[in-house]
Amino acid sequence: FSRIKEGLKKTRSGIMGRMEGLFARSSFDDEFYEELEEVLIGADVGVETTMQITDSLREKVREEKAREPQQVMDILKGLLLDILGRDVVPLELSEQKPTVILVLGVNGVGKTTTIGKLAHRYKNEGKKVLLAAGDTFRAAAIEQLEIWAGRAQSDIIKHQQGSDPSAVLFDGVTAAVSRGSDVVLCDTAGRLHNKANLMEELKKVRRVVEKALPGAPHEVLLVLDATTGQNALAQAKVFNEAAPITGVALTKLDGTAKGGIVIAIANELKVPVKMVGVGEGVEDLQPFDPIEYVDGLFT
Ligand code: GDP
Repeated sequence: FSRIKEGLKKTRSGIMGRMEGLFARSSFDDEFYEELEEVLIGADVGVETTMQITDSLREKVREEKAREPQQVMDILKGLLLDILGRDVVPLELSEQKPTVILVLGVNGVGKTTTIGKLAHRYKNEGKKVLLAAGDTFRAAAIEQLEIWAGRAQSDIIKHQQGSDPSAVLFDGVTAAVSRGSDVVLCDTAGRLHNKANLMEELKKVRRVVEKALPGAPHEVLLVLDATTGQNALAQAKVFNEAAPITGVALTKLDGTAKGGIVIAIANELKVPVKMVGVGEGVEDLQPFDPIEYVDGLFT
């Protein structure tokens, strides 16, 4: 997990780093709560979630008659973990092969890279991986996926640019069944400028994948870019309506000092952050560990 530590360096030393200074005081008065709100909102935790956290903190501090900085800090940590959960939530593997993972996300968030990193990870675990090039809108997306398939020694199913994404994913899943693949990673389109069409397309994609293999998709993984802050949350709400998401992969955490978006996602979407991207390299996608994350904010 040292890569996560490294990747969260900016968040820790940035706004969240101010957390430490916040607790170097002798009384926990209104000024403390105001400063805490500022720090959390500045770290992308979002207004709604921030208010919820500070209200609960006030209440618990009063209830427990906490006065010492360490006590207050522990209560705050506990509240953050209540939101994030305490366990690493892995991507589910289905009992029967193949596990189908539908990967959603707006262009540029790091969707292709995340698929590539996942392929690499599964391949390293000895699994047979198939990529399905469902982003048929961009020729570059298909080419990029091919490059990742090569790197991760995975199969790829692709059609021509402009063809029906559902047809590609249907073929991908069907091919994975007949070839005995363990995992199918399905890329999808991510052009959000035509939101209504994209959402209709994703609904159809989901239906068709289910038709190709009953019970699929086993995971609907939404890729969000941590550097886009509250915008990521807005995207998540839109996607969740088209295809209910089962997990989030949060990319580019290494590129922001405002890693608090993790907390907003968990609180407002009630969907676990399962993976975090902490760099451009193939190893830079790691399971998200809430306890390590929260501890990291205060040290
Ligand atoms: P897509 O349009 O969503 O498929 O985005 P890409 O996968 O092409 O990624 C866009 C850019 O973000 C590329 O330059 C990636 O190398 C970069 N990227 C993806 N994930 C991460 C990450 O976790 N950290 C950093 N620093 N860069 C990332």
